[in-house]
Amino acid sequence: MDISFIIPAKDEEESIVELSQWISRVMLAHNFSYEIIFVDDGSSDGTWQQIKKANGANSLVKGLKFNRNFGKAAALNVGFKSAQGDVVITMDADLQDSPDEVPELYRMIREQKFDLVSGWKKKRHDPISKRWPSKFFNGVVSRMSGIKLHDFNCGLKAYNASVVKNISIYGDMHRYIPVIAKWAGFTKITEKVVEHRERKFGHSKYGWTRLVSGFLDLLTLMVIGKFSRKPMHLFGTMGIISFLAGFIFTIKILWDKVDAAWITKVPLKRDVTEQPIFYLALVAVVIGVQLFLAGFLAELLARQTASKKDYLVIEKV
Ligand code: UDP
Ligand code: MG
Repeated sequence: MDISFIIPAKDEEESIVELSQWISRVMLAHNFSYEIIFVDDGSSDGTWQQIKKANGANSLVKGLKFNRNFGKAAALNVGFKSAQGDVVITMDADLQDSPDEVPELYRMIREQKFDLVSGWKKKRHDPISKRWPSKFFNGVVSRMSGIKLHDFNCGLKAYNASVVKNISIYGDMHRYIPVIAKWAGFTKITEKVVEHRERKFGHSKYGWTRLVSGFLDLLTLMVIGKFSRKPMHLFGTMGIISFLAGFIFTIKILWDKVDAAWITKVPLKRDVTEQPIFYLALVAVVIGVQLFLAGFLAELLARQTASKKDYLVIEKV
């Protein structure tokens, strides 16, 4: 099979049938074999009925239904697992992404051998309250991850099947699939300007609050990506720095004491316990110990899960 479409849908009843017909038209015109997998992410409207209706009209339309809302990432993840196509396309169910872009995305994956092609909604039909934060957000993610994309969160993306079969996404991590793919070694990532359309029905499921959770996720991802298999390198380094600071403060305190007692014999102006540096030394040493403990615990955890596959063999001779 050439193409699998994975389409997460939460309360998008008006769009399902129209979108599947549009996709089918494009696929037919280009002679692609395909499947369309809708994932109903706990919709409270008639989305599931519409998916069943689309399936009745065209058996290449398939549907998976969650028993409650688990989020876009979970929906994509389950779709990834069941996709059979050589190229996997994700897109939003709200008709904001155009299926007409797909043949070119397919070509870029198959002929230019990209692992991942991300859509770039260069001309966006979203309110300004969403566009500006998004610009900032994309700038930061691009800098931190070293992936040159303008639009990480675009719903329309194309993947080589081996990418989606070898990554897992959860929580709100759908925003960072390119980053996750890169960590997994799929580094041929690029973007393509795609048409973005006005939302025709319903309303957006995400507001500006996604900025905060988005950045927390990014932090998690950067730390996990770098240190999940060697947490002591992170905690230990910070622990050493803290410990060293504490050590230097302690030396300074002791030195002042020695100086007052035997060298210059000028008595201390304040007792040791009344000097700020005493408390700094105390805190720094305690934090240093804590960091080391956290590091050891994290190493123990990493060891427990070490049997879990976190590498990928792609060829054998
Ligand atoms: N979506 C989902 N689960 C959710 C929220 C959204 O499956 O919990 C789907 C939604 O139905 C749509 C896509 O994710 O197909 C993108 O959502 P939306 O259009 O609301 O986001 P926006 O385009 O405004 O960023
Ligand atoms: Mg949308």
